[in-house]
Amino acid sequence: MMKPEDIDGVKQLLASPKRIAIIPHRNPDGDAMGSTLGLYHFLKLKGHEPVVIVPNEFPDFLAWLPSSETVKVFEKDIENVTKILKDAELIFTLDFNVLSRTGDQMEAVLQQLTPTTPFIMIDHHQKPGDYAIHTFSDTSYGSTCEMIYHFINGLGEGSLIDKTIATCLYTGIVTDSGSFRYPSTTGTTHRVVAEFIDKGIDNTAIHSLLFDNHSHNRILILARALQNMKVMPVYKTSYTSLSQEELNSFGNSKGDTEGIVNYGLGMKDIVFTAFFTENKDEGIIKISFRSKGDFDVNQYAREHFSGGGHINAAGGRSTLSLEATIQKFIATLADTKID
Ligand code: 5GP
Ligand code: MN
Repeated sequence: MMKPEDIDGVKQLLASPKRIAIIPHRNPDGDAMGSTLGLYHFLKLKGHEPVVIVPNEFPDFLAWLPSSETVKVFEKDIENVTKILKDAELIFTLDFNVLSRTGDQMEAVLQQLTPTTPFIMIDHHQKPGDYAIHTFSDTSYGSTCEMIYHFINGLGEGSLIDKTIATCLYTGIVTDSGSFRYPSTTGTTHRVVAEFIDKGIDNTAIHSLLFDNHSHNRILILARALQNMKVMPVYKTSYTSLSQEELNSFGNSKGDTEGIVNYGLGMKDIVFTAFFTENKDEGIIKISFRSKGDFDVNQYAREHFSGGGHINAAGGRSTLSLEATIQKFIATLADTKID
């Protein structure tokens, strides 16, 4: 993953204490928050002044992550956070690889900084951009958190990975691997996690915090999404949706729809599923795609819904109405080879 000249370059950048901004993608998930906070704790131990800056609010179900209370939200305080970004001597971007994934306004600020502030990218998505002076991009890793483990070890600092860092990194490994079930889960993934458990992380508690910690509303939202689910056996496809009105009626809070898309793949002979959520604030329909086996949803999302991601998990968007978006989706299926 890391070339020797990049390792030397990063070591030089980290040789003296620096003000460092660490940024995940918009709508950060478990891997985005785990990797940024894991790196934050490492850089703190090394004597730096790191700060995690999220483009928009992160979900409640991750608010137990160590030091998540220090995280700054760009969209909540644009003026001050822009100052912090301009003041940073080094910027890490984690779990994404094109600046547009931070949203229009934050992208504009970051774009302005690229000529003068060194950027380091650590990410596992396809088609990395070229804004960073050191790019660690590898789609074979199941999570950015697993890459951060190798990044820290690559710097020769593996012994600094303590229970706090391991707790953060474990979180993203678990959430991005669907609890160790996706094909990107390797022997190495399990060896990394074994080391975290030896370092004292409470893996059972982390799973509970992530998956058994829902509000009643979240369960009601899930129930509605399951009721709305449609199955199209000829295309081996299922889909479901939630309108803004349905979300509002359950007092939707951020993160309540996380993971719902996976239920669509829970049926025998279904290999492709989509989950449409209406977001009236942003004027878009957010779409999540999942697949089993060889059907490449990354390519599908790029081709039809201005998105991307990985072979079995991707996202996209549409500016059509919810109904029109679903009609467009159904229309694509006849010309899509799904197996
Ligand atoms: P989710 O459905 O959980 O939002 O996203 C699934 C995967 O696709 C994640 O790895 C996410 O980073 C990626 N993804 C989601 N939306 C987009 C998008 O608009 N563009 C790209 N390139 N990737 C996306
Ligand atoms: Mn990820």
